[in-house]
Amino acid sequence: YTAKRERAGYVFYDSSQNTYSKARLSLNHDIIEALEHDQFDIYFQPKIDAVTQNLCGAEGLLRWKHKDYGFISPEKVIESAERAGVIHKLTLSMIEKAISACSQWHKSGHKISVAVNLSVRDLSNKDLTTKVKEFMDKYALEYHFLTLEITESIMMENLAISLEVLQKLNKLGVHISIDDFGTGFSSLAYLKKLPVNELKIDKSFIIEINQDANDKKIVSAIINLGHNLGLNVVAEGIETQKSMDMIKAMGCDQMQGYFISKPICKTSFQKYLENHEKNSNPNC
Ligand code: C2E
Ligand code: MG
Ligand code: MG
Ligand code: MG
Repeated sequence: YTAKRERAGYVFYDSSQNTYSKARLSLNHDIIEALEHDQFDIYFQPKIDAVTQNLCGAEGLLRWKHKDYGFISPEKVIESAERAGVIHKLTLSMIEKAISACSQWHKSGHKISVAVNLSVRDLSNKDLTTKVKEFMDKYALEYHFLTLEITESIMMENLAISLEVLQKLNKLGVHISIDDFGTGFSSLAYLKKLPVNELKIDKSFIIEINQDANDKKIVSAIINLGHNLGLNVVAEGIETQKSMDMIKAMGCDQMQGYFISKPICKTSFQKYLENHEKNSNPNC
């Protein structure tokens, strides 16, 4: 069966493939199976305070090593899970893994937060808030230690639903972050209406910030906008000392990127926490 699929191509990155190709169908099938057997993994990328360099939290990122084809990008997995109709289940399993890990960090004395990404369809999941509540109770974690990251396009796709779901979550105390900020099409007017806590500046503006004057202007404008609205501003994609220094000087609140740490597995993250013991700060 496997050999047959191999011959069938399994060309993941060919955009000319049509939706009903064999490769896609079998990927969908494999995703459903992996979900049933809990084979998806979560990696954590540290997020640090720009001023103190203290560790404040981690973003949980999906990792899946396909039994025959190796690692498949999370975007690809999410896209297929949406097509296969199992995205709600996949997201909830990521949220549970993140909450469970965060609760362990807290038990070992590290009161940091954890973030999970939501996809477009997640906002139409009627069970989302209830499930989040259930997990927070089960692992005894306070709501404000969980951040849900959504992109502007997810939010704008259905504003009425987004507003309703985000308000419910925010009322509980869960933090909402706008991911990849600056690349979508959100109307700035909605920023003040939506219960948002954080802007996460897209890495495309950060990666070459020390060489690109326009990137610098855009980032500076986003930091000001966020701060004027009382929001926490995070820069993702910090790859060099130079961009880290620049971002810090510009007054950004938090930073995330390969220069600080790549996303790492749960065990490595626990070690990372222990090495940062002296630095961990419950207030950021
Ligand atoms: P994102 O949420 O914007 O996550 C940040 C991505 O940037 C991650 O890629 C991370 O590994 C990468 N990154 C971090 N630091 C750097 C850096 O310094 N330089 C560069 N070039 N990249 C950096 P990853 O893990 O491949 O995830 C890609 C995207 O897939 C995520 O973007 C997110 O949109 C989506 N994703 C990942 N996990 C999940 C999930 O569990 N659920 C959903 N719905 N989406 C997910
Ligand atoms: Mg994210
Ligand atoms: Mg992002
Ligand atoms: Mg992204």
